[in-house]
Amino acid sequence: MIRTNPAPTHTDLPVVFSFGMGVDSAAIAARWLTEPTSRRFPLDRLTVLTAMTGDEPDITRRLVEQHLLPLLRDTGTRFVQISRTNQRGGHTVLDDSRSPRRLITRGPWRLSDELRASGTVPQIAAKRRLCSQHAKGEVLDGWLGDEFDGPFRHVLGFASEELRRAERDESYTALGRIPEYPLIDDWGWDRQQCEQYLLDLFGEPWSRSACGYCPFSAGQRGRAELIERWRAEPAVGAQALALEYTAMALNPRSKLYGTIAAQDLARTHGLADALGAFEEHLRHQRWSVYEVRRIIHPRRDDPTAKGAAWRSVRSRFTGSRADAAAMLTAIADGRARTDQYGITRAEIIPRTSGYPAIEMTLALAPAGVIDKERPAFGAWWERLHHQSELALPVTLTA
Ligand code: SF4
Repeated sequence: MIRTNPAPTHTDLPVVFSFGMGVDSAAIAARWLTEPTSRRFPLDRLTVLTAMTGDEPDITRRLVEQHLLPLLRDTGTRFVQISRTNQRGGHTVLDDSRSPRRLITRGPWRLSDELRASGTVPQIAAKRRLCSQHAKGEVLDGWLGDEFDGPFRHVLGFASEELRRAERDESYTALGRIPEYPLIDDWGWDRQQCEQYLLDLFGEPWSRSACGYCPFSAGQRGRAELIERWRAEPAVGAQALALEYTAMALNPRSKLYGTIAAQDLARTHGLADALGAFEEHLRHQRWSVYEVRRIIHPRRDDPTAKGAAWRSVRSRFTGSRADAAAMLTAIADGRARTDQYGITRAEIIPRTSGYPAIEMTLALAPAGVIDKERPAFGAWWERLHHQSELALPVTLTA
């Protein structure tokens, strides 16, 4: 479906192109840089802008450096690369150049560092890409807010089949942005046409751009690409396996791909190199015994149904893997079990019945997860634990 594009009334405004480095946005960049009639502005008015998550596979860097950076240099087009500064926020400019030589895929902050420290993986159950908003959306908004104090044209690479995404994005007009979607509004190009265009122009297929563990890019077709990426770059697969391992140790329901674990994918598809790199990674870690407690509240509108869950994570012992395992075995008093993913846990308080419910587990995982619980957790736990009349048979030495 082709819509009416409002852009021609804004021809003198600066143009910012959010370049996500995937197929759709690479097709726009390549066409604009090689076919002047495909755009309605001179290139000296264009800024190509990319926010890095820090976890792109190397193939993205190679493709952009080999095919697009030379076009940006030849045309003197401005390319700005930014990253989140730290967990609290901010943005750091990694490069701002009309003659870019490198794609700087890692800045001072990486999404994977934050996931490792929180012992989580991106949450697909929420259906909203909160990780993307955190790693890219907030960072791009920060840079745009600093750069412009008036209106600007903001171009996004939604393909023609992504009309719903464009409609949702269109309502976001903060910062003076006037959104445009050339693949939908002007060219009517779907993902396949973008892929074909890039293949014809560069002589090789373009790769999907995403963090190497991204669960949102792992639909049926995306999963096949993911497997091939892990086969070609075992370190990328090992990173996904490591993030999932810690997340599942703290919460067995945290399989990276919902009902499918990254470990299952790697084994089913015979990814021996990725699995080997993952085991090697585990061998070089310090290990901790984590105490994981949960309070599961009732739903506000239905006290018999499960509502919000609060989690408290505390590291109780850190040392070699053997020492941490021995500590867990000693304090779990025969309750430690190792599951099919090689994760050892001991259920100390099984989930109590009704709501609010409580539960407590001890888990063995690589060190590095930061102690975390909300301020009200301790008081709630004391009250509920007391009410449940459970005696905690656990004394841990940190
Ligand atoms: S690529 Fe996937 S995992 Fe990475 S930020 Fe985007 S949605 Fe999240």
